[in-house]
Amino acid sequence: MRIRTRLGLYLLVGLFSVWAGPSRAQAGQGRKDASLEKVRYWCSGQYTRVVFDLDRNAEYYVGKLQGDPRTKRPARIYVDLQNTLPSKGVAVKTDLAEGPVRTIRSGRHDRHTTRMVLDLRHAEDYNVFQLEGPFRIVLDLWWKKGGKGSRKGQDARGGASGAHRPRLPLIVLDPGHGGRDPGAIGKRGLKEKDVALRIARYVKNILERQKQVRVILTRDRDEFIPLERRAWIANSKGADLFVSIHANAHPNRKARGVETYYLDNTTDRAAMRVAAMENDTPAKRRDGLNWILIDLRCNANALESNDLAYTMQKAVIGKVRKAGYKDTRDLGVKGGLFYVLIGAHMPSILVETAFITNPAEEKRLGSRAYQKLVAEGVALGIKNYLRQHGRYDLLAKQ
Ligand SMILES: [Zn+2]
Repeated sequence: MRIRTRLGLYLLVGLFSVWAGPSRAQAGQGRKDASLEKVRYWCSGQYTRVVFDLDRNAEYYVGKLQGDPRTKRPARIYVDLQNTLPSKGVAVKTDLAEGPVRTIRSGRHDRHTTRMVLDLRHAEDYNVFQLEGPFRIVLDLWWKKGGKGSRKGQDARGGASGAHRPRLPLIVLDPGHGGRDPGAIGKRGLKEKDVALRIARYVKNILERQKQVRVILTRDRDEFIPLERRAWIANSKGADLFVSIHANAHPNRKARGVETYYLDNTTDRAAMRVAAMENDTPAKRRDGLNWILIDLRCNANALESNDLAYTMQKAVIGKVRKAGYKDTRDLGVKGGLFYVLIGAHMPSILVETAFITNPAEEKRLGSRAYQKLVAEGVALGIKNYLRQHGRYDLLAKQ
């Protein structure tokens, strides 16, 4: 087995799976084969994300095979899924129109192993990590077109017109949930997905009016977007910041306040509960027993994400308190294993703007005035962070 990954973060996750697989199978699901339910993918010119959805945990191995010019066989990445059978819905071969992966096909298939093969267009870097509840394996692949630097998507960034204008920072705002996933629902019926979208739209308007950044929303209508697709959007656009916007929920209706999360391992039960909720983990599996462990020492954006989280929390709390909501509770900055943040290549955070399960906060969240206020706080957090890093007012500095 040879796993060549850029970040130790993913390497450890992969190895953990290999090592921990059998004990999980014994504990939970007996020896029955897993089923590969679906293969999902998203591709842009330089970056493809492939997701293998399984119905249960399985051991897997990932490796790369060099291409052979004599036989014209392209370089390949294979994923051997142990004790796994493909379901009828999985295509034997799928051609991808663009990006590093030319085809996805199921290769060797014996009683014990399904081998999925990705035929590559070009030499690439790749990362692999797994998510749970349900179990899935995520592969990220980049086309190293212009050498090392281009994998972050500079080629795709663009945006600034005119030869001498600096490239404005690109912010990806991610309104949580959507479509068939309403998120948390308040007692009066207010849905988290609607609040998150309205706040995100206001943030976009505020930031765009000031013409110092560019803004993209992961969704601008009431549609379902898989968690894995959200970071893909930010990565494929070469975004500079990723901000996921949510409203909190708690069984205790008195719980209230604002909190901001960055990606981190945690054993804090409260943070784990929030992450499980946002990760769309089935309620019966929210006990934390199967939590993956990730090595964040190798996460290049860990410090920046932490910094962004503190700046954001301060800005949102400051805005709403100053506007008269003095009782707003500052729940602070916390680390959590939020799937939507895993694999993002830029500083990335998740803001829980208020508790939709708290009657007073639900009422506030439902009002346009409060949504705008929170949006001003989020926009200020983004501006302050960029200022601290010399990335704001780029046009004025010319
Ligand atoms: Zn949420």
